[in-house]
Amino acid sequence: MPELPEVETTRRGVAPWIEGVRVTAVELRQPMLRWPVPRSLALELPGRRVLSAGRRAKYLLFRAEGDRTFMLHLGMSGSLRVLRAAAPPALHDHLDIALETGCVLRFHDPRRFGSADWIAGDPLLHPLLRELGPEPLGPEFTPDYLAAACRGRKVAIKQLIMNGHVVVGVGNIYASEALFRAGIHPARAAGRISETRLAALVSAIREVLEAAIRQGGTTLRDFAWGEGRRGYFRPELAAYDRAGEPCLRCGGVIRAVVQGQRSTYYCPGCQH
Ligand SMILES: [Zn+2]
Repeated sequence: MPELPEVETTRRGVAPWIEGVRVTAVELRQPMLRWPVPRSLALELPGRRVLSAGRRAKYLLFRAEGDRTFMLHLGMSGSLRVLRAAAPPALHDHLDIALETGCVLRFHDPRRFGSADWIAGDPLLHPLLRELGPEPLGPEFTPDYLAAACRGRKVAIKQLIMNGHVVVGVGNIYASEALFRAGIHPARAAGRISETRLAALVSAIREVLEAAIRQGGTTLRDFAWGEGRRGYFRPELAAYDRAGEPCLRCGGVIRAVVQGQRSTYYCPGCQH
């Protein structure tokens, strides 16, 4: 499943091909993704220039002329590529955005949990986005902010940092990794962690996401002109999916538990 680093890598990969470029046509082969793709997308996007390729949480925001935005979510299995116009569509290639340069931005999504929307006005005020917590790499996600969000809370810290109303884009893998790095037990009550340790957690969340984005950057060239399907990159992981293996820090054994129906990996020696 694409997590925030993959979505950000996608944004960086497609941005140079679409920013400032006019859309000539939209071809929708599958109008039913997670919810129906609005008909207005294919009617109104052609003829407009895309001004910027942005991102909020895991939504890609292609701002177009006329105060409209093409908003795309990659869902569980979606991917976006830049291709030559002549490339024939394959199975699950649901949506093409044809550009005046002759390139095509193509959305591929076998499981169809992705979504494509066409919205007017400020996209950050859209119902899907306006209630979201701050970006983990943005200026609002500070130690003071996290300390205030944790104060008096009995919920496990891992569940708190995976709650998109607290902070967006910290998925299961990165939550496990950040807690390992900060030395905090994933099941510890959020309100029972010192501010110093929460500050370390803020740094750890930023570091694991930035490292994954840097690693994704090495795959950017694959976004354009590639013929094959690009898989999502696997970040280097210290705790996640390493149950039974030695802890890289203390040599103890990484343990797996199920927490909120998700697998959590931690080192009982290093995390408390
Ligand atoms: Zn350890």
